[in-house]
Amino acid sequence: MNIKPREEVLKMPKYDPPLEGRRGKLRLDFNENPIGCSPKVIEMLKSLTREDIAIYPEYNKINEKIANYFNVSQNEFLLTNGTDEGIKLIIDTYISPQDEMLLPVPIFSMFEIYASIIGCQISKILYNPDLSFPTNNLLKAISARTKIIILANPNNPTGTDINENDILKILKITNKKGIVVLLDEAYYDFYGETFLPSINKYMNLIITRTFSKAYGLAGLRLGIVFSNSQNIKFLRRVLSPYSVNIIAVMAAMVALDDEEYIKKFSNMIKINRNIVKRELEKLDLKVYPSHTNFLITDFGNACEYVEKELKKRGILVRNRSNYPLLKNCLRIGIGTEDQCEKLLQAIKDIIIKWRKNH
Ligand SMILES: *Cc1c(COP(=O)(O)O)cnc(C)c1O
Repeated sequence: MNIKPREEVLKMPKYDPPLEGRRGKLRLDFNENPIGCSPKVIEMLKSLTREDIAIYPEYNKINEKIANYFNVSQNEFLLTNGTDEGIKLIIDTYISPQDEMLLPVPIFSMFEIYASIIGCQISKILYNPDLSFPTNNLLKAISARTKIIILANPNNPTGTDINENDILKILKITNKKGIVVLLDEAYYDFYGETFLPSINKYMNLIITRTFSKAYGLAGLRLGIVFSNSQNIKFLRRVLSPYSVNIIAVMAAMVALDDEEYIKKFSNMIKINRNIVKRELEKLDLKVYPSHTNFLITDFGNACEYVEKELKKRGILVRNRSNYPLLKNCLRIGIGTEDQCEKLLQAIKDIIIKWRKNH
């Protein structure tokens, strides 16, 4: 006889990312680092020993390094198997089925996925039409059942940020009510502003970071959850003891040592982002402001055509048309100067071809 999953699982939204066959392509579709991690990480990986991977992971050295690097104490963070696991961990630790999550949309999918496993109420608040953050509507939506508010700053897929004063306002109000604020800073390296120094001022604040974007380590799965030591203590109870593997740990040690690589890379991305934005605007396309390593661009009726034609040329971008407010929009990752040139040339050709026929 078939076994039946829980009701919550039967009702879950599906998420199936098209994550096969992307090798060798110009991958501007998943906000990864399109040239990859610091070469020093690869050197280190080549020197791995049998002993390194025969024993269960040891975290002392990486914990020390992270505490120093981010200027927090060792009991104010924990490592997770990607930010994805961090998000699930926070939800599993704090959210009951009768609670409510306030979710500004459009946003990264995993918040809704993990919340729906719990079966809590998910109340969505629409971003403003210009993709700016809907602070007032969010504050108005807070109810007696609200237990967690999700903020991604800057946000994926909108690319837009949340004003510092608005975050402060939200933190002050929610802190008094004991509402968890999950602040996802996945794109911090392209943005430069953080609330990390406030984890002991707002006891309800939990911040996540990832090694998947600027650091180029998406395949190793490593994220960090920061909060005050009391919260981290509870989160650690729920976390699997060895969910982060030793190769990810060793890679992160080297990646953090090569700070220069990340700085150079993110500076290059910021410069190229502005160039690509300007060039797309010259084609009369609407490009939204971005504080990340991607641009949301409205291609109108040509959206699907552009996506497919780019794919034919080996350039992958992500169609976000099905997301609220993002009809006809492609999310386009930013790469090196050469990669951006290739992208822009292809888009120009495709758009000219389209406009001839329409
Ligand atoms: C990419 C992304 C993540 C995923 O990070 P992983 O560490 O790869 O799990 C988390 N949050 C946002 C907003 C993202 O865009």
